[in-house]
Amino acid sequence: MKITFPHMGNLYIILAAFFENLGIDFIVPPPITKKTIELGAMYSPEFACFPLKINVGNFIEALEMGADTIIMAGGIGPCRFGYYAQVEKEILTDLGYKCNMVVLEPPKGNLKEVLFQIYKLLQGKDLNNIIKAAKIAWLKAKALEEIEKEVFFYRAREKVKGMTTKLYRKALRIIHETKEIDSIKSSIERINKEFKRIELKKDHDPLRIGLVGEIYTLLEPSSNMNIEETLGELGAEVEKSIRLTEWTNTNLILDMLRIKGELKCRTAAKPYLNYFVGGHGLESVGETVLYANSGVDGVIHLAPFTCMPEIVAQSILPRVSKEKNIPVITMMLDEHSAEAGFRTRIEAFVDLLEKKREEKLYDEQKLLSWD
Ligand code: SF4
Repeated sequence: MKITFPHMGNLYIILAAFFENLGIDFIVPPPITKKTIELGAMYSPEFACFPLKINVGNFIEALEMGADTIIMAGGIGPCRFGYYAQVEKEILTDLGYKCNMVVLEPPKGNLKEVLFQIYKLLQGKDLNNIIKAAKIAWLKAKALEEIEKEVFFYRAREKVKGMTTKLYRKALRIIHETKEIDSIKSSIERINKEFKRIELKKDHDPLRIGLVGEIYTLLEPSSNMNIEETLGELGAEVEKSIRLTEWTNTNLILDMLRIKGELKCRTAAKPYLNYFVGGHGLESVGETVLYANSGVDGVIHLAPFTCMPEIVAQSILPRVSKEKNIPVITMMLDEHSAEAGFRTRIEAFVDLLEKKREEKLYDEQKLLSWD
């Protein structure tokens, strides 16, 4: 058995650590390129969600490298995610690939089935080993999150453009290659020391921009045209509403710890949207309200083209924007999105936020001089 799984941001580092420590044979799909997206788009239904198309591209490339078992998350609606694994399996079978699809349904869907699938994957493994593998994977997920926060801070303030991104890539490599529990902490310390050496611009007070939206589009840079890097290069500090550990909490560790953050977000969304609409539609609304309350300058809402939950959020966000006085822009993405047009819209949005901030400052100063 040679396992593979879809890419979603840095998730491959966490899963690789888990399988490696259990001695399970696995193949990480090659990094997502234009070719991956073209392959996925070519063999998927035209109106399928963009993440499904990228998954298909990942699987084709990994199966070509010798993988024979795919691990995929399942879903229980109301959006299309619940059908993803089955549709992907059909596509791959039609293409002539003989592979096994292991679907990890969310516990709310069928806990017995999840446990059975996990048991099938891990049977014969020592319980101590399983616990150790899960611990390393979890610590790496936390480390990646910590590093990402540093990246958002430094990228918006760096004097020499590109320094933070270069160090980020190195940091990902270090965490990926760190094998032992004890070394993860020292790896983070080493990376943090290097971050502190990045020279920062003096007196630069970056705009703060919140990213909300569908989870895959938020976490996978190849699906959002590397928006975090673009914003950082434009001097803006990014705040992301969904993080990998949160996703891992929700989807891989059986919902055990998620209550707190979500409750806050649901309460914030309540005056605008009071029920679950699938995916992260509700969170997109709630997080936008929370960002507005915390003084973020603007919010970018990211969604795959035709994503049902995010279309609901998109129709509500103009009201949130007006009532909370926070600029919000929705960016729909798919395989046809053009980088130049995307960047132009982002630049225009950043300009607008700068102008808004200047006006606010001007008004405050005027008020002060009248005093
Ligand atoms: S959340 Fe959106 S993109 Fe994801 S499966 Fe549902 S409809 Fe598709």
